[in-house]
Amino acid sequence: MLRARMDSPPLVLHVAAAVRDAAGTDASPGAVAVLEGRILGSGALAAVRRAMAGIPHREIDHGNALILPGFVNAHAHLDLAAIGPRPYGGSFVDWAAAVMRERPTDDAAITAAVQTGLRASLAAGVGWLGDIAGSECAVRARLRFDAPLAPGGVSWLECFGIGDAAEAAAERAAQRVLALRAEVPAAARVRVELQPHAPYSAGAALCRRAAELGTASIHLAETSEEAEFVRDASGPFAALLRALGKWNAGIVAQRLSPVQALAPVLAFGRWVVAHGNHLDDDDVAVLTRLPGLSLAYCPVASEYFGHRDHRYRELLARGVNVCLGTDSILCQPPDESQAHGILAQMRRLLRRDDVAPGTLLAMATVNGARALGLPERSATLLPGAEARLFVVELQDPARRPSLTDAIDSGRGRGIVIP
Ligand SMILES: [Zn+2]
Repeated sequence: MLRARMDSPPLVLHVAAAVRDAAGTDASPGAVAVLEGRILGSGALAAVRRAMAGIPHREIDHGNALILPGFVNAHAHLDLAAIGPRPYGGSFVDWAAAVMRERPTDDAAITAAVQTGLRASLAAGVGWLGDIAGSECAVRARLRFDAPLAPGGVSWLECFGIGDAAEAAAERAAQRVLALRAEVPAAARVRVELQPHAPYSAGAALCRRAAELGTASIHLAETSEEAEFVRDASGPFAALLRALGKWNAGIVAQRLSPVQALAPVLAFGRWVVAHGNHLDDDDVAVLTRLPGLSLAYCPVASEYFGHRDHRYRELLARGVNVCLGTDSILCQPPDESQAHGILAQMRRLLRRDDVAPGTLLAMATVNGARALGLPERSATLLPGAEARLFVVELQDPARRPSLTDAIDSGRGRGIVIP
């Protein structure tokens, strides 16, 4: 065993024009030392080489590239990966109904879709993800994904039950998630949690139970139709519930925004709320007072549905943990080669809002890690971190490598692990 190790040193130095993370690593030229799946050290090439002197190792030179940590996609729908990008017709309710009709329903198709999404996520540099699983089958497909670098993180089992149906739905959902947790292989690196779907489909009792059981997630403040439903118990979502036979006497007008109506539940436990497209001043104030809350902003999907002026920068400035997600493949541009990745989400914000690249990197890595409750140092290049690297080739060898260029024009080479 020792001889085999000496023949092929397990210590690998990844060398590139620059290395950067959101935890203080920033060097050019740079290197990341990786030993058996863990980062041993990173920083200026000369310093890393000095630290590794005398220890058998091999070097992999990535050339004119920037090494970043793998990204965290905090909101994805892997089981919709088979549907592909889809134009938006202008009605969210019609769109949601179409998704319900078209999503795969048999186990083989669901499993294939999740596997497709996971492979595409890996190729796009996603090291960890929080995916919304529409069924037990989708959770199992993720848990059993047979790849050594399978993204860790959270699989959120989606659950429904509103009004009078919420209490019983909460008990059913708890049983389902506990049964799935018993199936999680030790090496899976994935936790199973609950996602009450949205304020128009999941009642407070269901949300409370999800938060009691761990890190919960929900689609929140996503559309104006959702706000109308919560405030007045009317509008297109009320009509949809009636059409589906899900309307009941317990569904009542709450006279509040979705955020304010759910605030007492959000105050309890850990939450990753997805979207937050429609937030008024009171909603922003509520979100800043919830220490266990993270917001997964999906910029490309948000624009796809026509939402404008997202308040993520204000939320970040006020201390809310804002991270990034893709949402489903349906919302991504058909010409995006890394539609399951986070680089395209960062690029959209860099070009549209001129956000500081360091802020984007934090949203794409450490903020997502905090949202998903990942181990300390995840999605950094710090010693002890799980080694998930994303190598972005830089276009112009004459220019000093910069994070801005990497986000703006770079294409990732995926995760590189010895
Ligand atoms: Zn979603």
